[in-house]
Amino acid sequence: MPSLIDLHCHSTVSDGVLPPTDLVNYAADCGILALALTDHDDLGGLDEAARAAKSRDVRFIPGVEISVTWRKRTLHIVGLRIDPTYPPLLEGLHRIRAGRHTRAEGMAAGLSKIGIHGSLEGAYQYSKESIISRTHFARFLVEKGYAKDTRSVFKKYLVKGKPGYFEHEWTSLDNAVRWITGSGGVAVIAHPGRYDLGRINTSLLMNEFRNLGGTSIEVVTGSHSVPQYQQFAKIAKQFSFSASTGSDYHGPGQSYIEMGRMPSLPLDCVPVWKNWPEVRDIVVETV
Ligand code: AMP
Ligand code: MN
Ligand code: MN
Ligand code: MN
Repeated sequence: MPSLIDLHCHSTVSDGVLPPTDLVNYAADCGILALALTDHDDLGGLDEAARAAKSRDVRFIPGVEISVTWRKRTLHIVGLRIDPTYPPLLEGLHRIRAGRHTRAEGMAAGLSKIGIHGSLEGAYQYSKESIISRTHFARFLVEKGYAKDTRSVFKKYLVKGKPGYFEHEWTSLDNAVRWITGSGGVAVIAHPGRYDLGRINTSLLMNEFRNLGGTSIEVVTGSHSVPQYQQFAKIAKQFSFSASTGSDYHGPGQSYIEMGRMPSLPLDCVPVWKNWPEVRDIVVETV
């Protein structure tokens, strides 16, 4: 049975292509019963999404996905059930967004060096009012014919070692977890299988995250392969983390998986929503 709970997705407030209302309506049409909006480094879509969710009878969980630098790697920490009015969280995210502008200039300068001009303006045309991200550069580069799709454009231009990649220091793991838990939310390591950490670093990260007050990791996500569901279910158990699940949906044709198509969490996982009154009464059939 598919999971009807989706705790990770993006709207036009970050790098998704659907505005918050359309995203919630789409989720409802896909049969999603409980949804968290987790835009990158921005809470600007939460009010609108909450209103839309109410009118569609979808249980709504305010969320965020925070960009973090940990031991020279970029990690994403999802915050669920956060308080969107908590000042340290708001101020912290504001600083991250400011850093994104400087980084975008660095990315554009790198692309200029190989003869790709105008990418800063081009990317901003895609990001409009939202945060500026590599995804917006990718959309511009595809539009200009530098690659056939987002995935190949990332590989060719936007990942470490490529001309459009600009080394950037995000906030610390400590800050991200403190902002989330300080606001009353749950800190979740997003798509841990994407970081290619190896056994030793995985263990280091999980221990450090737990010591800081993190309590959950994503197990079933659009970014994990099927074997990774089992792998991270085991790691969750080993470190006494609860398990979260989310499609990481960015819009039609933008993501690895559609909404409402993910399998349920493995049976031996403790779901992150176990003690959330607004979600726990939703009966989720398990695989
Ligand atoms: P940024 O936070 O600006 O570094 O952008 C990261 C975003 O780019 C992620 O949240 C994904 O939406 C997207 N992304 C990262 N890597 C890839 C990839 N290989 N292919 C397609 N999209 C990607
Ligand atoms: Mn994204
Ligand atoms: Mn992510
Ligand atoms: Mn995401």
